[in-house]
Amino acid sequence: PAIASGSSVTVMGLGTHGGGAGAVRYLCREGANVTLTDRRTAEELAEPLKTLGCEPAILKLGGHDVADFMTADLIVASPAIPYDHDLLRAARSAGVPVTTELALAAAALPPNVATAAVTGSNGKSTSCALLHAMLSAKHARTGGAAWLAGNGGGSLLDEIERVRPGDSVVWEVSSFQLEYLVENGFRADVAVVTNFAANHLDRHRTLAAYRTAKQGLLENLRPTDTAILNAADADVRIWPTAARRVLFDERSIPLPGAHNAQNAAAAEAAALALGCSPDDVEAGLKNATLPPHRLQLVAERDGVRFVDDSAATTPESLIAALHATPGPIYMIAGGADKGADLQAAAAAAIADRTAGAYFIGATASAWRAAVLKVAPDHRCFNSITLDAAFAAALQDAQHTGGAILLSPGCSSLDQFESFEARGAAFARLAHRQLRPHARAA
Ligand code: ADP
Repeated sequence: PAIASGSSVTVMGLGTHGGGAGAVRYLCREGANVTLTDRRTAEELAEPLKTLGCEPAILKLGGHDVADFMTADLIVASPAIPYDHDLLRAARSAGVPVTTELALAAAALPPNVATAAVTGSNGKSTSCALLHAMLSAKHARTGGAAWLAGNGGGSLLDEIERVRPGDSVVWEVSSFQLEYLVENGFRADVAVVTNFAANHLDRHRTLAAYRTAKQGLLENLRPTDTAILNAADADVRIWPTAARRVLFDERSIPLPGAHNAQNAAAAEAAALALGCSPDDVEAGLKNATLPPHRLQLVAERDGVRFVDDSAATTPESLIAALHATPGPIYMIAGGADKGADLQAAAAAAIADRTAGAYFIGATASAWRAAVLKVAPDHRCFNSITLDAAFAAALQDAQHTGGAILLSPGCSSLDQFESFEARGAAFARLAHRQLRPHARAA
């Protein structure tokens, strides 16, 4: 929806990754009457409010007031807020439209911007980074620019005035976003689904509901759009869509793991559909800056590698890391349970491929029990803290020529503020004893 100057817009949830702040700034610039409401208190939000750079007309912190929802012209909700939150449901039934920062940005794009949207249970950020690099190579030839936006952090709304006709935008889209996007008519010229696996069942409750949310990416596509689906994923390859279907599989690339070969193939298929040349694809693969905390080699000494894969918050990504890392592997895993059935397949892979496993966080004892069930003699510790796990792994890994691999397979939120903070803590522990090393894993 376009923002009329003087309209009343309620922003629900400032968020932690910059999306909410970008939305508030944009709405203020557009002359809206902005109410910012957040469950967190003014004290808890002191820092982000200080750096916000504009003054919302009304601040309603430490809770919400139903009146701000019923009388608004528009509500911009943080995608972290459940789609069917009571206040949002009430607003919708009173006829108040509910949107998100990403949907606002999509609606604010100038004409003739080529768009790609990427979702999936794993590999979104990596595929988006590769696709963005391929499109950047194309624009270096033909003019214009490629923009990377969405789930990855920040807000395209902060730069929306700089996006020009002829540019390209890559949206990274989470399942949390999709429920909001579908109802706002969001579509992209090219939609990519990397894969589908049980994840985020704490929020979506059932696998079917989670699948339906993900399939939303394909729902508003037109026959002239392109849907790029993972041929190697038996679930995703048959998802329904009105768009032209292109299946992808694997591509040989200089990145670790078969999972990255799939991410690269997804990015390549999308890039070709958006007019990139084979040379642009090659240049993108070579020049892409991959996001940190994905199988990132942060230090190495005496042949022992320290690999930060803190972004691995699902059992599938933990398994992918085990297959992508040359052994012997001393694995640090565990954390908060996202409601996925975490143990069975991942525990078998840990028993099969690690020389030792050191579990942390809320699920530590469950993980250890699951591994010992398949392999009663496996070297396996319930270390609880990252520091203790690191110390135990370090002792075992000395002079083995192996890898200490942090690939938790769980969310970080029981012990850390974010997976980035968890990865940074691991890198600090590694750097404390070892020389820094610049090369990527
Ligand atoms: P997302 O953005 O979907 O969370 P990322 O690209 O950030 O995905 O990767 C997150 C984690 O998942 C990393 O540990 C990475 O090594 C792993 N991973 C990346 N791509 C895949 C894939 N296709 N299948 C399984 N795991 C993957």
